[in-house]
This record gives sequence, structure tokens and C-alpha cells, in this order.
Amino acid sequence: MAEEKYETHEYDVIVIGAGGAGLRAAVEASAQGVKTALVCKSLLGKAHTVMAEGGIAAAMGNVYPEDNWKVHFRDTMRGGKLLSNWRMAQIHAQESPDRVLELEEWGALFDRPKDGLILQRDFGGHRYARLAHVGDRTGLEMIRTLQQHAVHKGIDVYMECNLQRLLTDAGKISGAFGYWRESGKFILFKCKAVVLATGGGGKAWKVTSNSWEYTGDGVTMAADVGADLMDMEFMQFHPTGMVWPPSVRGILVTEGVRGDGGTLKNTKGERFMFNYIPEFFKVETAETEKEADAWYEDKKNRRTPDLLPRDEVARAINSEVKAGRGTEHGGVFLDIASRRSADYIQRRLPSMYHQFKELADVDITKEAMEVGPTCHYAMGGVRVDADTTAATVPGLFAAGEVAAGLHGANRLGGNSLSDLLVFGRRAGLYAAEYCKALKGALAVNTDQVNAFAREMLAPFESKGSENPYTIHADLQECMQDLVGIIRVESELKKALEIIQQLKQRTRNVKIEGNRQYNPGWHLALDLHSLLGFSEAATLAAIERKESRGGHTRDDYPNTDAKFAKVNVVVRKKNGEFALSQEPLPEMPDELKALLEEKK
Ligand SMILES: Cc1cc2nc3c(=O)[nH]c(=O)nc-3n(C[C@H](O)[C@H](O)[C@H](O)COP(=O)(O)OP(=O)(O)OC[C@H]3O[C@@H](n4cnc5c(N)ncnc54)[C@H](O)[C@@H]3O)c2cc1C
Repeated sequence: MAEEKYETHEYDVIVIGAGGAGLRAAVEASAQGVKTALVCKSLLGKAHTVMAEGGIAAAMGNVYPEDNWKVHFRDTMRGGKLLSNWRMAQIHAQESPDRVLELEEWGALFDRPKDGLILQRDFGGHRYARLAHVGDRTGLEMIRTLQQHAVHKGIDVYMECNLQRLLTDAGKISGAFGYWRESGKFILFKCKAVVLATGGGGKAWKVTSNSWEYTGDGVTMAADVGADLMDMEFMQFHPTGMVWPPSVRGILVTEGVRGDGGTLKNTKGERFMFNYIPEFFKVETAETEKEADAWYEDKKNRRTPDLLPRDEVARAINSEVKAGRGTEHGGVFLDIASRRSADYIQRRLPSMYHQFKELADVDITKEAMEVGPTCHYAMGGVRVDADTTAATVPGLFAAGEVAAGLHGANRLGGNSLSDLLVFGRRAGLYAAEYCKALKGALAVNTDQVNAFAREMLAPFESKGSENPYTIHADLQECMQDLVGIIRVESELKKALEIIQQLKQRTRNVKIEGNRQYNPGWHLALDLHSLLGFSEAATLAAIERKESRGGHTRDDYPNTDAKFAKVNVVVRKKNGEFALSQEPLPEMPDELKALLEEKK
């Protein structure tokens, strides 16, 4: 095969991913005066951030003046089952309000009463109503605002450009390599720093709220150059995805429905969540329907158990279905019609109204929705420094869903959008500082790049007959059935065997046709990331022999004090993943005191 000349560009900072985290990072890096490019594999604006519905969590105290960063910090730590990195949780709680106000200054139009400050809505696990929102289309407004800001700053954007590999020189980041989705031609970026903002890997599961971009690319690219991954065992299954009809299974039903008054019921009409309140949350959760109803009316009493953190609600739904109290399609009911008027529902939840009307022929102002858990969010990802977002490879930074640490064992709803703004900004800032401080020139190793190009073109030359779609479907089946909400060692080990077999089969993938817009080839390339993400998640799930947050082990059903003190870290050595348990950083006493329970 003749080696081709690669289209080559040179920047200080390359931001890979143009969702909320990537856009905010690019804006900041560029504001610091370094030459910045933003690269995304979908169209600009089409990222998971645009799909976000419920809102951005920030302790602004607009609805409850008693709210402040300390309560938000405490809620995040408790929601994350005390495994969140305390420093990230502190920074996040302290800086989120400023980032929301900054977004407003840049043109975002949040919902607000006629004469008041930005409105804030209730979400699971948050003590006070604190999600700044725009109906149930918050992500759209966030992306619109950030995108306009970035474009006006003149940042170079490369869209429908898929980066596949990071390049290093003497252990430091020196570039990234990939291809244009339309032409299939390769593209090479030389740079001093890379910010990964590629999101998660939910497409490895069958029932998921995630879309096609979520193939774990950032996590795998980072691992391939030796960066540490952390908390990969924690995958969030959102309790409320659509379950019927089959073609829409997994599409998200925002937690805003419960925040605005919706209640969960089984097929006997029981509000079953009262039977699933863990000791840990009893202090502030209503234990009777009367108490919970009072909360909905005046918001001054203890909170309804329908708004417990997501891991608790997802497990409860799973148990109800298993006990035979679920619907024929394997879900439960979510009812807002019997509590709120049609006008209220259409005003507060317009997307949900249309989603059910158009996709399931259900009028949610009159009928209950059928819902069940859906794979939604990766708490784990690239291990980063809490203040700077630097990964363990010099020149590599990560922010947003691709990074680990803030959310611990379970993310609270709304804490992702604020995470993107807070740590996206920090990633851009510290990547720029790194570039300015870097001494000496970096080189790109042409042999390494040529080897990547040959690997990527191998499916066209292959003598095998494997189909990438079949391999992807088999992986999704495996992860759904064996690495799902409830896990057990024998099944996790079986999953690992299947993943190894799938890796072998991937070597025999055959792609017909040419490089111009060839979706089969794109998926064949994504399999590398999907399998890398799945392998790391499964290995970490075997290692954590306890149940905590988004990781429930049937064979170890309780939390274990030993695992309360460690993160599971995964890193590649000689091409193979190796595991270690590493102690959590010590939390200062004044922050420990904030975690004490108070009524
Ligand atoms: C339906 C839905 C509703 C949600 N609602 C909320 C909510 O109300 N509040 C909340 O806090 N969170 C919510 N979330 C979660 C939140 O939206 C995501 O966690 C968050 O948007 C992730 O942002 P990000 O910037 O990390 O990644 P994304 O916004 O997904 O952006 C990833 C970017 O990376 C690019 N990319 C990926 N791989 C490559 C590659 N190899 N090369 C080049 N580019 C690449 C993609 O093209 C994209 O531009 C929701 C999620 C979903 C799916």
C-alpha cells in the first residue's frame, strides 16, 4: 500500500469533542491567547449536551435562599456514595453559580418568573431546587450559547472529523490522528496539548439513552497512550427510559417529570418507592405518601422518595419488575397527569409531551408513561488532577463525561452540565498554561502515524468475513446481559471472555467499498474504542467486590468499608489492562464536617 500524504495542521491546543465541555474548554484556551482548534466527529452542535433536558445544577439560592455550595458539595458527595474526589466536588459546587451566570451573560435565556431571578427546579438527590433550566430543553440553549460564543471568537472548527489515536513524543502529547468522515481521508494534527471532551461509552450497551457518538473514543485513546482510567465500574442506569414501543426503548424520560410532580407506580397502583428508602437517606426523605404530598405542595417538608438518587430508583424499578409488579413490557408507570394540569405539563415539559405523543401515541397530560432503566452515563473515565484536569500523561487534559472523579459511584442529575462548564473552563485554562510553559520542540513520529494509517485501512484489505454491525450487536447483548444493573462474578468473567473473542473477530472484519462516507468502516474503527471501554469497565467491575452506586453485585450485596477508601484504577501495560486499588485523597476536616447528617 502506497503511503499517502496527510492533510496536516498545527495548533497549540486541540480540543477533541464539541459538546459543553469541549466548547467551554476551547473558548477558554483561545481566550488565553493560544492557537486552538475544536474537532468533533458529528456536526457542530450535535452532541449529548444538546440532548440534555432537565437543567444545570448550581447552588444559586434563587428558590431556596438557604442553599449554598456547602449543601451542594454534601449532596454530590452523598450521591456519589462518598467516592467522589472531594476537591473536584468542592470546586464544582463553588464555581457552578458563576458559570451559569456567565452563560446568561453570553446570551442564554433561562426560565425565570416575570419578576424574579433564574428559576431552579428539583432533581433527585439535591436537597434544594437548584437546576437552572430552559423548559426541558436546557442542553439546546447551552450549546446554542457556547457555540455562538466560540464561533464569534474565531476558533477553528473541524466537524465530521473523527480522531482515532493520540501521538506522543518522549511520553508527552504531540498530536492526534484521524479521518474525515465524508471523504475518508486522513488528517494529522500536531499540537502541544490535547483536551479530551469526547463523552462516554454508553453505545456498548443495548438499551441506552446515548446516541451513536458515544463509543468510548476518548477513554480508549487515553488508555492507549498510557493514561490512567478510574472508576470504570460505575455506569449509571437512569431509572426512566422509554420502554415501548421497542424502536424507542432507552430514550430518556427526564427526571424533571418527577421533579415537577410525577410519581412512580407499579401495576397494582402502589407508589412503591416508599419501600426502598435506604437508611442513608431516611433523614431527609418522606416516609409516607401524606408527607411526600405535602412536599409537592409547599416544598418545605421532607422530599419524596421518587427523587432519591438515580441508582436507588433504578434498582427499585428493577426489583418491582422482577417481583412481577411491572408492566408487560418490563417497566413501571410514571404518572404526572393525575397531579398536574395539562397546561402545566405542556409548559414545563414540552419535549416529553411531544416525545410520548409522537413516538408512543401516549398523551402524558392524560395517561401515565411506561418507563424502565436505561444505560445513561459513565461516572468513570480518564483520571485527572482535580484542579487542572491534567491526565497522567503530560499534555493530556480531560473534561466532561470522559473524565472521572467528580461523580464518584453515582452522578446526581444536573451535575453533568455544571461539570462541563466548571471543568471545561479549567481544562482550557490549564492546557493553555501548559503550552506556554512547555520548553523545546515536539516531534511527530512518522512511522507511528503510518502504522496507525495501515491499521485503520486493514478492514479493506482483510481476507476475513466478519461484519462490524454483528460484532457491535453481540457486544451490546453481552454488556446488557452480563455487565448490567445487577452483576455477579461468574457473568462478569463470562463477559470478559466474550470481549476477548470479539477482539479476535474484529481482526477479521471485512469492509466493502471505498473510504468515501462508508458507515461500515466507521463502525469497524469504533469497535476498537467500544471494546476498550467495555473491557476496562468489566475488569473494574470484577475488582470491586461490593455494591455501591452504579455498581451492584448480587454476590456482594452490601457496601464494604475497605472499598469505601479506594478507587479502582485501570492502566495499559504492554498493551494489556492492569488493575490497582488506590487510596482516595484525604478530605480536610472542615469538609468532613459538612457531610454530617442534619434534619
Ligand atoms: C437525553 C439526555 C438528557 C440529559 N439531560 C441532562 C440534564 O438535564 N442535566 C445534566 O446535567 N446532564 C444531562 N445529561 C447528561 C449530559 O448531557 C452529558 O453527560 C453531557 O452533555 C456530556 O457532555 P460532554 O461535553 O462531555 O460530551 P458531549 O456533549 O456528548 O460531546 C461529545 C463530543 O465529542 C465528539 N467526539 C466523540 N468522539 C470523538 C472522536 N473520536 N473524534 C472527534 N470527536 C469526537 C462528539 O462528536 C461530540 O462533539 C443528559 C444526557 C442525555 C443523553
